Amino acid sequence: MNFIQTRGCDENKPQSVTFSQAILSPIASFGGLYVPESLPDFSEDFLDSHINSSYKKLASDVLSRFEIDIDKTVIDEALALYDKFDDAKNPVPVVKLKENLFISELYHGPTRAFKDMALQPFGKILSSIAQARDENYLILAATSGDTGPAALETFKNQKNVKVVCIYPADGTSDVQRLQMVTEEAPNLKVIGIKGNFDDAQSALKTLLASPNFNEALKDKHISLSAANSVNFGRIIFQIVYHIHNYLELVRQNAITMGEKIYLNVPSGNFGNVLGGFYAKEMGLPVEKLVISSNENNILTRLVQTGIYDIRDSKLIQTTSPAMDILKSSNVERVLYSLYGATRTRELMESLDKENIYTLTADELKKLQEIFVADYCSDSEGKEYIKTVFKEYGYLMDPHTATCFKTYETKSNPDIKTVIYSTAEWTKFSPVIANALTGENGAKDIVALEAISKEANVKIPAMIDGLFSKKIVHDTVIEKTDIEKEILHFL
Ligand SMILES: *Cc1c(COP(=O)(O)O)cnc(C)c1O
Repeated sequence: MNFIQTRGCDENKPQSVTFSQAILSPIASFGGLYVPESLPDFSEDFLDSHINSSYKKLASDVLSRFEIDIDKTVIDEALALYDKFDDAKNPVPVVKLKENLFISELYHGPTRAFKDMALQPFGKILSSIAQARDENYLILAATSGDTGPAALETFKNQKNVKVVCIYPADGTSDVQRLQMVTEEAPNLKVIGIKGNFDDAQSALKTLLASPNFNEALKDKHISLSAANSVNFGRIIFQIVYHIHNYLELVRQNAITMGEKIYLNVPSGNFGNVLGGFYAKEMGLPVEKLVISSNENNILTRLVQTGIYDIRDSKLIQTTSPAMDILKSSNVERVLYSLYGATRTRELMESLDKENIYTLTADELKKLQEIFVADYCSDSEGKEYIKTVFKEYGYLMDPHTATCFKTYETKSNPDIKTVIYSTAEWTKFSPVIANALTGENGAKDIVALEAISKEANVKIPAMIDGLFSKKIVHDTVIEKTDIEKEILHFL
């Protein structure tokens, strides 16, 4: 299957590209994105035939229906990485919290957050494509939290790919920083930038625009690629677990085949819920997709009013930082599916130029047939963390907590809901410790121990071990020195 472009074709790029091409250069004509030219069918026959399938078997069959240009052996190797998750047989546990409410835990991978679900297999596939073409790629990532550790973990020691992660020296939690600076491999470089996340991002932007830097890459025969969440190479793996969760509910006798359910997804750049959208479009019985946001509630306003308006919006720093986003990139793929390329280009150009677009009443109606949305403040989230722990003994992180607000305001308790848990409690321990014990301003190690004691759970070895692991990347620089530093590494 080939991939076409959300904003139409500008004649400089081909009309359609292969999966490999869409992975290597994810930006399409007019600044658009690549989408599959058609969607395979995953309705009841497909579901019936996979009722007893392992996660890997299901994933392998979902991918094969997309008929992508990647060898089966490479796909199998990529999917084998799910064997490194806590339970190789069931990398995505679905646990019952109470009547009609289930939690899909997407954080059982090596870096304890949901980014592993897609980045683990994606890293293998990108490296294989680069090797097959005998090309070398550099991935540059500015990260404040979950993407950096997951990208380093997946690409370490992979051939033909180097990764440079730039993090704000004042802007990550201890656990997130340690996950990056202790990751040792010759093809990885981690650089702290003095300042906050904006400083790290602007350093990266300046670097990408530097003629000297681009010239140097050319001389070294290195191309830039991206592992960010608009890459369809990540999205394809995020379709699988929505189908898996549905089958899990059937297996647990919670629903009968064909019964519709709610999928409730804590959303930022919209990759996770987009996977659910595609699964629904392909026939998965989903009543509604529930979009949960934090106070950066741009998606709530879009679904409720049909207006995407960031003219006066300022990014708010919340306790769920992976969802602190104003331009939610993957929404564009939904616009394309519902309204076509011409209209998508019109809407996205309006957003780029005027910082606003407005859907027609008919367009909004179509959107609302599929999605509902609401947002959760930090203080509400804290309350949910506390009450859910008190009532059910269940520990959750602040991203997951936003779903409990939408579960109350936007769902029907008679219909089964799956809430997605996107990070383990260990990744955001100071917030959780504060919710549970009132303790304030604790460092991660103190917070982890406080939660461990309060909830009588062990700190997982891979998190505990971070605090005594050797720091291999101790570079912290001014943002003006970044070019020199990276060229030296290359
Ligand atoms: C990335 C991330 C999200 C948001 O996912 P999107 O696919 O960007 O919508 C939510 N929670 C956590 C913990 C994340 O790391």
